[in-house]
Amino acid sequence: MYICNDFKSEPQKISETIMKMYTRAELRKELVNAGIRPSVQRLAIYEYVRNNRTHPTAENVYESLRDELGSLSLTTVYNTLKLYAEAGLVMTLHIDDGFLRFDGNTMVHAHFRCDNCGQIYDLPVKDDYHAWLEGTEELFVTDAQLYLRGLCRKCRMEN
Ligand SMILES: [Zn+2]
Ligand SMILES: [Zn+2]
Repeated sequence: MYICNDFKSEPQKISETIMKMYTRAELRKELVNAGIRPSVQRLAIYEYVRNNRTHPTAENVYESLRDELGSLSLTTVYNTLKLYAEAGLVMTLHIDDGFLRFDGNTMVHAHFRCDNCGQIYDLPVKDDYHAWLEGTEELFVTDAQLYLRGLCRKCRMEN
């Protein structure tokens, strides 16, 4: 198993690899390719979850978009995110306190949750999960998540 150990000393490097921003046109195309009709609300929700690496809950997305999209409801946000998860466009994470979080980065990566500030950071992994573990060859794996906890760099400096 290889987990990037650089995150304590070189957080910049990780954000470079993970902070790609997508244009609205690119995102619209991804929805169409997945067979999803890109309404204004759907596209805004998708853009939010793809371009914000905060691993938001449906409530977070709703709070952020409801001023921009007057008629938006929390139910719509939740159902839309579930639709994206089923289509494989976003990942669902269950990494703290029973909150369902959504991740617009579907490439294999690990997560680090800071026990102090609650931020969830993406960590790149060198290989996919088959390389982390033995005995997966005969399994049909549908999900693999690696989740680390501790103190983030910022909180370590402050404590
Ligand atoms: Zn922290
Ligand atoms: Zn992530």
